[in-house]
Amino acid sequence: MQIDKNVENDGVIFMSIKGDDKDGERKASSGTGAQKAAASDKSGLSASEGDDVTILAIESSCDETAAAVVRNGREVLSNIISSQIAIHTVYGGVVPEIASRKHVEKINGCIRAALSEAGVTLEDIDVVAVTYGPGLVGALLVGVSAAKAISFAQNKPLIGVHHIEGHISANFIENKDLEPPFVCLVVSGGHSHLVVVKDYGEYEIIGQTRDDAAGEAFDKVARAIGLGYPGGPKIDAAAKEGNPDAFTFPQAKISDAEYDFSFSGLKSAVLNIINQAKMQGEELNQADVAASFQKAVVEVLVGHAIKACKEYGYDKLAIAGGVASNTALRTLMEKECGANGIKFYRPSPVLCTDNAAMIGAAAYYEYKKGVRFDLDMNAVPNLPLGDRERRFHAGKA
Ligand code: ADP
Ligand code: MG
Repeated sequence: MQIDKNVENDGVIFMSIKGDDKDGERKASSGTGAQKAAASDKSGLSASEGDDVTILAIESSCDETAAAVVRNGREVLSNIISSQIAIHTVYGGVVPEIASRKHVEKINGCIRAALSEAGVTLEDIDVVAVTYGPGLVGALLVGVSAAKAISFAQNKPLIGVHHIEGHISANFIENKDLEPPFVCLVVSGGHSHLVVVKDYGEYEIIGQTRDDAAGEAFDKVARAIGLGYPGGPKIDAAAKEGNPDAFTFPQAKISDAEYDFSFSGLKSAVLNIINQAKMQGEELNQADVAASFQKAVVEVLVGHAIKACKEYGYDKLAIAGGVASNTALRTLMEKECGANGIKFYRPSPVLCTDNAAMIGAAAYYEYKKGVRFDLDMNAVPNLPLGDRERRFHAGKA
């Protein structure tokens, strides 16, 4: 995975993510008019049997403006991310109004770059896909409006994608052998879900957080111990220098819902230790707190996920979302999967953060099932995972 980065005048980081050499070769051979290579997965081709499906995907649910061109769900021809993180860092978190305005400024450039890097024009695009929820409404609307405009102007089908279904689908991009059913742990800034992916686009939620999301807990604890925003990567880095056994933090278990999570007690325990140290005039070791906190979160996440695989009888486990790039989580999950005969799948860290390639991957399987959205598609800021709200839009080709 090669990442070309450029910091623009306003602090926004423009990234172009390219796959490995193997992907490059595939792109070269299939991008020269060899449009008839049949898709090799077994999810049932429909009317377009045998044809390549080239999707322009757009993502703008939070503070990343992203566009990608994805062929047949798993072949990423281009993946452009314009990250506003540096701007929001000044405020200690994402400011929705600023995020929306930046999306408006950046979206056309991202789409243009995605098309040009893929070596295609809008005429070559078969489907326009976009995240329509959940997320910040003003941010989502920018991507939704752009996608609708292109779909209308080019007369191409439009598909709305659930952001978290996108995160889960990021696993398909680099793991060509991964097919449902499998268990997926989704851990991001807004979500902590344990999901059974029963089929493409079919999800059964078996556990979720009762309070804070895992990423939210990382961000809040990082702020409390003075590491700042964004908390996840900073705690991850600090923990490498700390002792994970310096403090014993609580790992919540919910008696009537064994796969649910709760991180608010853990967060309070960290705050208590900080306050105690302050009152006693002691200096807290930031790295020790970070490492001990991270251990508590990671052990709960891994414990629940492995238990779910064993009890539900699945031998494949994937992780997804921003927190899935956490090194301690990846290491412990790999070890526990190995010990329990479970095959472990995870996207590269850059595909764990918000991106549009994952939206293109999810959209492909929706497209093949015949899902089409009308131009009255709206942003749905609190769209639940696995929700069939999209049925209201389905039907028209
Ligand atoms: P959402 O889409 O719900 O806003 P993202 O998928 O963009 O969330 O993920 C962002 C979250 O991931 C943030 O809470 C961030 O702190 C967390 N995160 C990113 N990298 C790491 C890491 N290495 N370790 C732990 N958390 C991380
Ligand atoms: Mg996300």
